[in-house]
Amino acid sequence: MSAADDLRTRIEAGERRALAQAITLVESTRPDHRETARELIGGLYPGPGTAIRLGLTGTPGVGKSTFIEAIGMMLIGRGLRVAVLAVDPSSSRSGGSILGDKTRMERLSREPNAFIRPSPARGSLGGVARRTREAILLCEAAGFDVVIVETVGVGQSETMVADMTDLFLLLMAPAGGDELQGVKRGIMEIADLVVVNKADGDLKSAARRTAADYRGALRLMRRREGDPEGVPDATTVSAATGEGLEAVWDRLAGLDAHRRAGGYRARRRAAQARRWMRFELEEGLKAAFAAHPAVAREAPKAEARIDAGDLAPELAAEELLKLFLSDKQG
Ligand code: GDP
Repeated sequence: MSAADDLRTRIEAGERRALAQAITLVESTRPDHRETARELIGGLYPGPGTAIRLGLTGTPGVGKSTFIEAIGMMLIGRGLRVAVLAVDPSSSRSGGSILGDKTRMERLSREPNAFIRPSPARGSLGGVARRTREAILLCEAAGFDVVIVETVGVGQSETMVADMTDLFLLLMAPAGGDELQGVKRGIMEIADLVVVNKADGDLKSAARRTAADYRGALRLMRRREGDPEGVPDATTVSAATGEGLEAVWDRLAGLDAHRRAGGYRARRRAAQARRWMRFELEEGLKAAFAAHPAVAREAPKAEARIDAGDLAPELAAEELLKLFLSDKQG
């Protein structure tokens, strides 16, 4: 049995250590690790694909970890198994991770039916995307019912996470005055549900007002396929007291059921997979181009001529491409 087959068998048998090892493997950039990872991921197909893949974003301090812990504990109470993956591209720049903190979700991390994986400390956005996509597939193969992908919303990370999940939740804080300002329009466009957290104590009425404002704004947006009401909704929750959590989950699960029944979810996953193949293709081509000996030899010369002003960049690119393709077409 190959290393990849062995790992896959242990993951499918529910061995947590094997899942953790496999995620470490897909995070690695070492060529031999990549090869094993590819074999492992390839062996997961055709996968059952039964998990709900839920993306979640919100600015630091909004209550993401409190919310995930609370909803995670609730789901475990209902007999479900929950995996949490963090995406934090900021950690590759600053060296410190906003989401990687081990003290987050302490109760959930002790649950045998939960699996929490902090963001790896390095990697480009493309690298993080690959690792996260593969980690989702691995969690699904390990039998998790819900895979939550949490992101801090730096750069393009929320768009990336929305492109690998079925449902996307935007967690917000109660605000006064110019509530909708400062929310990136792009995030509103990918959110399936806006949840205003901290709807408790003194903040309760502000939270309700904020949710009403979002609801109004969301109604003005275009109608969306796969949505029974046609537009995403906004609601309130208190991750601290648990009030509203059941309702939030029921909304999400209801939306997921509706989308599965209507075929929307399958189409969305297929479109995501197609885009992923294109991404992998482009990455592979770029790497092959960079590693091509004749290209590597000629590119600096072409650059020198471009610098000197006696070669048009488009001609230089064409020449280098011809060089690259000349021995690929036999
Ligand atoms: P994250 O940075 O988005 O993960 O936010 P945390 O979950 O760490 O929460 C940030 C702060 O908000 C903490 O002090 C929490 O105790 C507090 N908090 C989180 N959820 C709630 C809530 O529902 N109500 C109130 N009042 N405070 C909350």
